Amino acid sequence: MYDKYSKKATEFIDDQEIRDTIAWAEENKGNLELINRIIDKTDELKGLSHREAALLLCCEDEHALKRIYEQATKIKQEFYGNRIVMFAPLYLSNYCVNGCTYCPYHAKNKHIPRKQLSQEEIRREVIALQDMGHKRLALETGEDPVNCPIEYVLESIKTIYSIKHKNGAIRRVNVNIAATTVENYRKLKEAGIGTYILFQETYNKEQYELLHPTGPKHNYDYHTEAMDRAMEGGIDDVGCGVLFGLNLYKYDFVGLLMHAEHLEAVHGVGPHTISVPRLRNADDIDASEFKNGISDELFQKIVAILRIAVPYTGLIVSTRESQKSREMVIKYGVSQISGGSRTSVGGYAEEEEEDSSQFEVSDRRTLDQVVNWLLRLGYIPSFCTACYRLGRTGDRFMSLVKQGEIKNCCLPNALMTLKEYAEDYASEDTYRLAIEMIKKEAQDIPNEQVRQTVLEHLHDMDGGMRDFRF
Ligand code: SF4
Ligand code: SF4
Repeated sequence: MYDKYSKKATEFIDDQEIRDTIAWAEENKGNLELINRIIDKTDELKGLSHREAALLLCCEDEHALKRIYEQATKIKQEFYGNRIVMFAPLYLSNYCVNGCTYCPYHAKNKHIPRKQLSQEEIRREVIALQDMGHKRLALETGEDPVNCPIEYVLESIKTIYSIKHKNGAIRRVNVNIAATTVENYRKLKEAGIGTYILFQETYNKEQYELLHPTGPKHNYDYHTEAMDRAMEGGIDDVGCGVLFGLNLYKYDFVGLLMHAEHLEAVHGVGPHTISVPRLRNADDIDASEFKNGISDELFQKIVAILRIAVPYTGLIVSTRESQKSREMVIKYGVSQISGGSRTSVGGYAEEEEEDSSQFEVSDRRTLDQVVNWLLRLGYIPSFCTACYRLGRTGDRFMSLVKQGEIKNCCLPNALMTLKEYAEDYASEDTYRLAIEMIKKEAQDIPNEQVRQTVLEHLHDMDGGMRDFRF
């Protein structure tokens, strides 16, 4: 029986409820009065239920779709303005005991070089990332209790935070490691991680078990209940996601929103972020063998509906997506993107070996090219990491977002961190665009006192000072 308050995976992600939701949405997709009422409701900025969102997903009416995109653009502007937060993945280890059929790191793949970075190699990777201008990382590892135990991950986090090269610093380390115990989540919290990220891949239990035939990840319930354990361990910012292309997208879309509703119901705070990766080719993996790929058009529709369904949740796209696709989804709701990414172990300090990447990167531009592109499109690339460093996490963070107050911090922080980027790492052209953007946007900071403080800090940065934040 469906129960969003239950701690049992098969009850808060109830298969029958998902099927009933999709059947109901299909039946009602011609009911334009209801659809328009749901779209109107998004003006309240309170989000949508999984049923309401599913109905919008099934809707094919052109006028209604236009309204959905308009609302998504409006809500994106309301909460996130024209800021885009930047991050990079850092692969520590590709040893893995699991058998995920869509990932080249699966245990049976014998022609991929296996590697676990030493602390010295991590230093080199982090310096390379700092020299690009990154401040926020997402750590990635395969699951292997022998070759990649939790102690190794904890030591690596410590190393990463300790490296200060020139003006560089990694100020927020998000972690994407396999589902683990409450005790290990507590250790990660103590190590000072930002968000704990774990993709569900698919919410369909039957499909999930087929896609994960061997290894601990085969256990659907343990994987699906991981966020509850993370929250029990004190991590209050968690990042969810599915891998679109593995299973039928409607099913996973509804499952994702039910997961968000469950976290909100039980822990008082929904996911901090949602990622929307699409399946890509990789060594040993032919994405076309999975028959559930989604078109660019559908991908945009999913992003737009997620934006209005969970307005308080950051949406992330990676370099799996092309420049063109990223441009479109940034408009409709994505608030965080990676740039200059390497998806192999050790790929930043050394030339990346094609066949050891976890997936093919579509957007292969450098970070500077991505920053330059964003500025030309009128966005402010932000390297802000302020919230978690000031203890604004979990429900504290969410209540500021819900009251619309967080943006009073986001814009000043975006401008000050962009100035850091411009001064320390930008090419000549990017520098010029960044300074123009900062000048223009600083005038628009609504609060007089905040504006003055930002102008003073920007001035102090010319003298070499760094790391100001609100
Ligand atoms: Fe291992 Fe993760 Fe790849 Fe699965 S998706 S094989 S758990 S690295
Ligand atoms: Fe994110 Fe907080 Fe910075 Fe805004 S102020 S960009 S919410 S870390």
